[in-house]
Amino acid sequence: MRAAVLREHGEPLDVTELPDPTCDPDGVVVEVEACGICRSDWHSWMGHGEWADDAVPAGQILGHEPAGRVVEVGDRVETIREGDRVALPFNLACGSCGYCQTGHGNVCTGDHPHALGFEPSAQGAFAELVHLPSADYNAIQLPEDVSPTDVAALGCRFMTAYNALDARAGLRAGQWVAVHGCGGVGLSAIQVANVLGARVVAVDVRESALDAATDLGADAVVDGSAEDPVDAIRGLTDGGAHVSLDALGVAETCRNSVRSVRPRGSHVQVGLTTEAEKGNVSLPTDWMTRHEVSFLGARGMPPTSADDLLSLLASDAVDPGSLVTKTVSLDEVPERLAAMTDYDTVGVEVMVP
Ligand SMILES: [Zn+2]
Ligand SMILES: [Zn+2]
Repeated sequence: MRAAVLREHGEPLDVTELPDPTCDPDGVVVEVEACGICRSDWHSWMGHGEWADDAVPAGQILGHEPAGRVVEVGDRVETIREGDRVALPFNLACGSCGYCQTGHGNVCTGDHPHALGFEPSAQGAFAELVHLPSADYNAIQLPEDVSPTDVAALGCRFMTAYNALDARAGLRAGQWVAVHGCGGVGLSAIQVANVLGARVVAVDVRESALDAATDLGADAVVDGSAEDPVDAIRGLTDGGAHVSLDALGVAETCRNSVRSVRPRGSHVQVGLTTEAEKGNVSLPTDWMTRHEVSFLGARGMPPTSADDLLSLLASDAVDPGSLVTKTVSLDEVPERLAAMTDYDTVGVEVMVP
């Protein structure tokens, strides 16, 4: 098969011929029909993550937002058949540990690969074929009529936004949510917030991103380069948002997001930090204590929650395809990843091999 391989951090991915993946007894091999290109791929490509002891090593095939068709099925797999259409979550789970058994496979602690496309035992989907371990638990079965590009756009962004706002922050109809950073996950969060009936203030420093936020239904937008986002959000929301989400992961947006919430509000961290923060951001903890502000983390989505998300998709309440600004070939992936260095991408780009 052909695949885009990380040879050296920050150097263009090598698109080359590699052996096809072998199928585990519990796994399936999927022919990739589409795979989203995500800022997490960029972080891996740049070698970020060493501070957390999880920098992606050379030799890795990146790509963690695939949809495709099953072409090989392991002997022990019971629920997936050859020819099935599936989406693969990036957060892989063992299916049998305590977290998996209670519906929290996204924080699985089992002896098992945990991140598709980020570790050698889970090679990614910037490739013609990808292997999915523990397929009975991890595979998200798709209806025949869903477009693979839409599902790839759903990718980690929609799943993460949905898990973050619904399950983690408990965002409810009528509440205000502030979204800091209107890239793929931020724009997905705006759509999810709309579905949940919440009102949205979106913050970015790029006019194109703010325009996209407005198009997707943000009730108000704040240009962070022109005014203080915290003051602006407090004004717009009569004292602060109920929930605020940092989709970017730099110290300033994280602190701005925390300080955007009203008393007893919740901040959800979705963006991972950069080289500058190395995984650590200082926070106004006295102020948070005084106002009983919660700091929540959110990672992907438990595969067991996929039905909720798919029913939203079927109802036309969300339209991930509207986030897709570009489809590119496997050969173009190295260049599009590099374009993220200058934040030179808007919305979601999807690889179609
Ligand atoms: Zn598990
Ligand atoms: Zn992603």
